[in-house]
Amino acid sequence: MRVDIFSLFPEMFAGPFSSSILKRAVDQGIVNFKIHNIRDYTHDKHHTADDSAYGGGAGMVMKPGPVFEAVETVQAQALDMKDKKVSVILLTPQGRKLTQQMAEDLAKSDWLMLICGHYEGVDERIRQHLATDEISIGDYVLTGGELAAMVIADAVIRLLPGVLGSGESLINESHTGGLLEYPQYTRPEVFRGWAVPEILTSGNHGEIAKWRRRQSIIRTAERRPDMLKVVELNNKEQEIVADLSTQKSNEEDV
Ligand code: SAM
Repeated sequence: MRVDIFSLFPEMFAGPFSSSILKRAVDQGIVNFKIHNIRDYTHDKHHTADDSAYGGGAGMVMKPGPVFEAVETVQAQALDMKDKKVSVILLTPQGRKLTQQMAEDLAKSDWLMLICGHYEGVDERIRQHLATDEISIGDYVLTGGELAAMVIADAVIRLLPGVLGSGESLINESHTGGLLEYPQYTRPEVFRGWAVPEILTSGNHGEIAKWRRRQSIIRTAERRPDMLKVVELNNKEQEIVADLSTQKSNEEDV
């Protein structure tokens, strides 16, 4: 996968892309990151990439010219990507809210371009005529799109084949199958008097799998009941949910 990121603060990306899983993905040639400084596509001596807002108001707006030129120049130069479909994603708190499903869909792309806004945001014509998608990483406002771009890159790249050490790591993860993950434990078996659930040390993999599935359902019901409205559960699992909600209403009545 190729990932091009357009930013006024490219130095912000040095850390996240040079350690841990993202670094491994780069080293293995699974992903090719290119960070572009939008200021390199300005043509005045001060490298002006922003200006005041038409209509007045505090704060500066990123100019359309440098952003269009940056994205179009990179697209024109990427000869090896000519036949590949590119998603030009504008990071904005007004976009579709990022979900695991969106990360999975983006992981099927060959080429992502991520445009990071700053200040009051970007000129509306970037959204209208350059971006093919707009993504928000949550209902809050960040100073710039850089952290959002890192979040998207991380969520997507860890899903690419070969990036994680073991394919197993993705299975049953929170949000992957519509549920939250079951509780995890590691050594020691007893820590400060708190023991690991016995089933996990039984060696009975069938029973462990059942326990984990049940714990996932319980945990999701407790923390994110909204997720249970869309996940597919078999009859037995639906009974677990029904029992939990009866138990909860009984507790509330007491
Ligand atoms: N004035 C804009 C508004 O109210 O919609 C917010 C601008 S914000 C201070 C500056 C930039 O940070 C945005 O252009 C966007 O690129 C990025 N940003 C802020 N919050 C974000 C979020 N929740 N998700 C993705 N990007 C975000």
